[in-house]
Amino acid sequence: MASDAVLWFGDQMSAVPLRNNKAAASTVRSVTVLGATGSIGDSTMDLLRGARDRYRVEALTANSNVEGLAKLAREFGARFAAIADPARLSELKEALAGTRIECGAGESAIIEAAARPADWVMAAVSGAAGLKPALAAVDRGASVALANKECLVCAGDFFMERAKKAGACILPADSEHNALFQALGSGNREELVRVIITASGGPFRTWAPADIEQATLEQALKHPNWSMGQKITIDSASMMNKGLEVIEASYLFALTPDEIDVLVHPQSIIHGMVEFSDRSVMAQLGTPDMRIPIAHCLGWPDRIVGPSARLDLAKIGQLTFEVPDFARFPGLRLAYEALRTGKGATTVFNAANEVAVAAFIAGKIKFGAIARLVEATMNDWIRTGNRAPLQSADDAISVDHVARNRAAALLPQIALKAT
Ligand code: NAD
Ligand code: MG
Repeated sequence: MASDAVLWFGDQMSAVPLRNNKAAASTVRSVTVLGATGSIGDSTMDLLRGARDRYRVEALTANSNVEGLAKLAREFGARFAAIADPARLSELKEALAGTRIECGAGESAIIEAAARPADWVMAAVSGAAGLKPALAAVDRGASVALANKECLVCAGDFFMERAKKAGACILPADSEHNALFQALGSGNREELVRVIITASGGPFRTWAPADIEQATLEQALKHPNWSMGQKITIDSASMMNKGLEVIEASYLFALTPDEIDVLVHPQSIIHGMVEFSDRSVMAQLGTPDMRIPIAHCLGWPDRIVGPSARLDLAKIGQLTFEVPDFARFPGLRLAYEALRTGKGATTVFNAANEVAVAAFIAGKIKFGAIARLVEATMNDWIRTGNRAPLQSADDAISVDHVARNRAAALLPQIALKAT
């Protein structure tokens, strides 16, 4: 799908294409969904369900949900289904018995799914586990709708460069980045002053720091506006998600940390804005429904008819804005620090956060300790780490492993620390 005719935002760095250089969309596109059973996967399958004549499903993947995966593979007549848990292969085979759907299990099967010839791939595995599969799609020059922000945060040093080399189109599926993608076409790199990504502020936006410290899992999982997977919902409560998104924006669009601002906007109607040199600010608006940015990626370079609710601003009445509170949400400060440090620091930030979130879910640390564990791991890595730009997936995965081990080692003392 991607071609030499694609223009790149910025001079050389970004593989995000500009809309004003439309490629002709073929009639039936083949699509693969990595992480088909998750929240983003579900929204993607819903859109595909509504346009069966325009899309053919090549491959679908899941982590361990055999039943959900087999059901989708049967419904869409997928050619290949892959389950990450190697112990589930016979179960998957059984669930697909009587069909002609090929199947596989383990990390290599997920990578195989991504490498199979589909025009468009949704990268919606959660966490750094999504990196190698996303790269497999990138390397064959596919159009890759990128929901998995962790893989970009983890491998940002080279991910976009590799996409550019392979002629892959990276279509930002995260709502804020999709908003920027839509707004950026209004000007060029030299005219850009800054981008603004909005944040709902999550469930603890107005809480006292002492209460945030003690927040329970149930409270952290109550997002005011968005319905999402568990990990990203907790990241939204800590605003680590916004931190990941600042890093994601920097790598996607080749922006410096100073060119990226975060604005708290509790209604989640404006998703992102771009300010240009003439002081025009272009914004993208929509109801908080991930099917809107995903539909934009799916239809690109055209627009498809979306099933989401139409925006009724009169009914909403008010859009409000606040500056983010870095003291209350230290994860946001740490993300900027990691981005400024570079050379693997964002990989460490992400790995430590994944360990911290898992520990919080398991009841091993308090909510407030998530950011403390990330900070301690980053400081430890800066003190002792061998810092060099990451060149490959193996480099990124090796830093990711080191950081996970350090975070796990630091966990007991962080858990014990009095607040
Ligand atoms: P989710 O937990 O609901 O789903 C994750 C999917 O990945 C599932 O299909 C799961 O089976 C699969 N998976 C998990 N671990 C895996 C592994 N080790 N190997 C292979 N497959 C694995 O997550 P989600 O909310 O859909 O988020 C997916 C990604 O999209 C994340 O990176 C998230 O940050 C990003 N994102 C999500 C939203 C949202 O609204 N949910 C919005 C923006 C970005
Ligand atoms: Mg987002």
